[in-house]
Amino acid sequence: MARWGGFGVTFRQMFGRRVTTEYPEEKRPKPARFHGRHVLNRYEDGMEKCIGCELCAGVCPARCIYVRGADNPPDDPVSPGERYGFIYEINYLRCIHCDLCVEACPTEAITESKLFEFSFTSRRDAIYTKDELLVDDEGRARRLPWEHWVGNEDEWTSGWVRATAPSGRAAYEGQVAWSPELGFGTRPAETCQSEGAEVVDAEAG
Ligand code: SF4
Ligand code: SF4
Repeated sequence: MARWGGFGVTFRQMFGRRVTTEYPEEKRPKPARFHGRHVLNRYEDGMEKCIGCELCAGVCPARCIYVRGADNPPDDPVSPGERYGFIYEINYLRCIHCDLCVEACPTEAITESKLFEFSFTSRRDAIYTKDELLVDDEGRARRLPWEHWVGNEDEWTSGWVRATAPSGRAAYEGQVAWSPELGFGTRPAETCQSEGAEVVDAEAG
C-alpha cells in the first residue's frame, strides 16, 4: 500500500505550484548583492576609478588579481589620483567570488555584476584583462563572447552593493554613501533595514 501512497504524492505534485524554471532560457532575478563576474568602474566623466593601489590584490585569498599601477600622465590622466591601474587582471580559474577585493577597494573601482555563467576553453580567456573588465562608455559591463548575459545581470554593479556599505548600519540609513558613476550618476540610497527610511543625499548634507 505504501507504494500507492507514493504515487499519490507524485500525482498531487503534478498539479501543485511549480518551483523550478526552464533554465537556462528562463532565469530567476538575482539578489542585489549577488557575487558574479567583476567590473572595473569609471566616474561620470569617464575617468577610471582604479588608482592602482593593489589593495584588492593584497587581500585576495586566491591570489588571482594582478595589478600594476603607473603614474598618471599629467596631460592626459586616466584616473583622478596620482596613479592609475596600468595593468589589471583577474584569473577566473582561481577566483572564489568572495568579494574581499570589493570590500578592500578604497575607490569603489572593483565591484561585481550578477553574471556567473561564463565558461572558457582556454586559459587566456579565463584571465580577464583590464580592457575586458572596464565598463564601456555607457558604464555597462562589456559582454564577451563566452559569457551568457540575460536580463538585468549587469544592473547594479556599482560600489553600493558592498556588503559592509555604511548604509548597512542604522546610523547611516537612507544616506548615499558612494560616488557617482559613468552612465548612472549617483545611485539612490538603499532603504536598509527600516522601512520608510528617509533618503538623504550625503553630499548635500
Ligand atoms: S572575489 Fe575574492 S577570490 Fe575573487 S578576485 Fe576578489 S578577492 Fe580574489
Ligand atoms: S581596484 Fe581598487 S583596490 Fe584594486 S588596485 Fe584599483 S583602486 Fe586599488
